[in-house]
Amino acid sequence: EQRLSSRVRKIAPSATLTMDAKTKALIAEGQPVINMTAGEPDFDTPTPIAYAGVKAITQGFTRYTPAAGSLDLRRAIAGKLMKENHLSYAPEQIVLSSGAKHSLFNIFATICDPGDEVILPAPYWVSYPEQIRLAGAEPVIVACDESTGFKMTPQQLEAAITPKTKALLLNSPSNPTGAVYSEAELRGLGEVLQRHDIYVVTDEIYEKLVYGAEHHSLPALCPELMDRTLVVNGFSKAFAMTGWRLGYVAAPLDLAKAMTSLQSHSTGSPSTISQKAALVAFDAFDIAMVQEFERRRNRLVEGLQSLPGVSILAPEGAFYVFPNVSGLFGTTYRGKPIQNADDFSQTLLEAELISSVPGDAFGSPGYIRLSYAVSYEQVEEAVVRLERFVKALQ
Ligand code: PLP
Repeated sequence: EQRLSSRVRKIAPSATLTMDAKTKALIAEGQPVINMTAGEPDFDTPTPIAYAGVKAITQGFTRYTPAAGSLDLRRAIAGKLMKENHLSYAPEQIVLSSGAKHSLFNIFATICDPGDEVILPAPYWVSYPEQIRLAGAEPVIVACDESTGFKMTPQQLEAAITPKTKALLLNSPSNPTGAVYSEAELRGLGEVLQRHDIYVVTDEIYEKLVYGAEHHSLPALCPELMDRTLVVNGFSKAFAMTGWRLGYVAAPLDLAKAMTSLQSHSTGSPSTISQKAALVAFDAFDIAMVQEFERRRNRLVEGLQSLPGVSILAPEGAFYVFPNVSGLFGTTYRGKPIQNADDFSQTLLEAELISSVPGDAFGSPGYIRLSYAVSYEQVEEAVVRLERFVKALQ
């Protein structure tokens, strides 16, 4: 007899667990580990936002809001989507939730049935395939590499669509590659999507973290897709608010209503305090954080580019680099064989105390992900350690 449901038994154990455990053990020993696995800004929430949260508590905004969130914040988000993304939504089409991750979960539960397929370009963020499976659907992974800047081409999209396809999932700027789809690239995908009646889920949570590149929202370029597109965003990354747990989706009204209903019976409304704080977030965006990320990115990319056997595409957004280290597979470090990204990450941690995530977790086994949500000094030190590590490989 099974103690666990077939639903949760399908969830793959996290590929990052061993790295995580090892990293934490080393840090607990007092070792100077540079932890480049972080998926969140190392900055504090901007002060005006933090104070708005405190004020919300002391002024008694400590009760439930409507399940989809307070109307004033949904209005503010509709205004933001119009002003910054050229997307026209009514407040009723915005559903707030406890994070973009939660919004994505609601989406798959709302649009997917067992047997459906969701097209997922790799490298992908780790939670996507599991969330799709939890909704009973199957992720159809489309492998993308450096040759297309880690981006799916219209030809690849066309080839992946079957009668079972329910949705395409797009994430730009991307976690883990930092790739940003250009206007022309999005239009190319839009042309294919016009010919096939499938949903488009676009995760734009890193939109404000771009370096030189410009972020575009697909439905703004292809308005005819509006009635089957779901735009996901949140406050975690752009406003350094990961712990406040607040995200949202903008969707066609029938889907927004269905997701609200789902949420009303699962989590209920997201935190009222976080919603109050978020009301001032759009005016408190701190460009200095983006500039600092760009400085670290430039240093890290420059350092990685000089490493023999490593190839690197400069990320245009988010706060990760995704170097290809497969050129070093087949080498040894002090007799220890490096045969895959897992060996590479483990050995790098043991030898030089740099913690990274092997690419397998993102569906791309020849790579590792390094987050530069660490101080500039740590980025500089990481480059020194990486150089020493690669030099020692035989
Ligand atoms: N989407 C992507 C691509 C992410 O990297 C993350 C966080 O790591 C999220 C969504 C979830 O963000 P949150 O749930 O904190 O809003």
